[in-house]
Amino acid sequence: MQHNNTNSIAKTSNHDVQKNILEVSHLKKTFQIKSPDGKKGLLKAVDDVSFKIKKGETFSLVGESGCGKSTLGRTLLGLYTPDRGSKILFNGEDNSNIPKSKRKNFAKQAQLIFQDPSACLNPRRTIKQILLEPFKIHKMKNGEAKIMELMDMVGLASRFLDRFPHEMSGGQKQRVGIARALALGPELIVCDEPVSALDVSIQAQVINLLEDLQKQLNLTYLFISHDLSVVHHISDRVAVMYLGKIVELTTRDNLYEQTQHPYTKALLSSIPDICGEPREKIILTGDVPSPSNPPSGCRFHTRCPAVMDICKTKEPDFIQTSSNHFVACHICTK
Ligand code: SF4
Repeated sequence: MQHNNTNSIAKTSNHDVQKNILEVSHLKKTFQIKSPDGKKGLLKAVDDVSFKIKKGETFSLVGESGCGKSTLGRTLLGLYTPDRGSKILFNGEDNSNIPKSKRKNFAKQAQLIFQDPSACLNPRRTIKQILLEPFKIHKMKNGEAKIMELMDMVGLASRFLDRFPHEMSGGQKQRVGIARALALGPELIVCDEPVSALDVSIQAQVINLLEDLQKQLNLTYLFISHDLSVVHHISDRVAVMYLGKIVELTTRDNLYEQTQHPYTKALLSSIPDICGEPREKIILTGDVPSPSNPPSGCRFHTRCPAVMDICKTKEPDFIQTSSNHFVACHICTK
């Protein structure tokens, strides 16, 4: 068994020869917080997370609300400054602490698609003004021609350019959000719950669009979601997060068919028919503990159906259990 080697290979063989676009080592992000009674404290939203993403793959982060997945995505984009000792390499270059002067340039390489398209589009601007903005900020020519291309790419007719966001449906607004993310020609896109605010009937269309764009433009996605059905559809590899830590990381097929971590088993039991044998429903008791005061030992021990004495005092190592499969659980070291 090997420790902390998360450079596993994506399910599709073409990724075997591809280089890592992102290498994350010991990433931590702590926020200072104040409790209602005025006491100061620390909230470790992301706590010592390591993984690598290959160019052209879709790497998904899943977990319940508040597990740190969105904070992780935003930290990788430089929107939050990581704690000291964290290391983020983007195409081999150290991006751990991007100075403000370089942040603008990094926006050409990595972009974010937001969860709520209504909240991220300026309601006072037309779609044309919204899409032209990145070209103006970066003083790039041919913005007008480029936005026609972008509209075509995301399947929107040019007549929408003169509309305001409130005159469009949720799915159309998310297409505008995707077009804006593509404007500067990024290599990596962090998709933060990109379909969870949309009607189920529209979700599939947007997911298909993301897949088509990935093939066309050789994009790499960090796909953040709590929806394991969507993740099953789109991912090459998946990392499961719980209270700021990755507890299982493997290929999409391994995760759904060779599930190892009790937390992942519980999450997957809520979608029993997705693949493989039907699963018995596992109901987790208790609330998710606060990341400002996580449980000792294994952070999942207060809710784990398989908890042992050792789990309450000793944090499990993140170990390789089989080819392309990494897990943090004492059951896997027995
Ligand atoms: Fe459950 Fe123990 Fe494994 Fe944590 S280490 S997931 S508490 S069995």
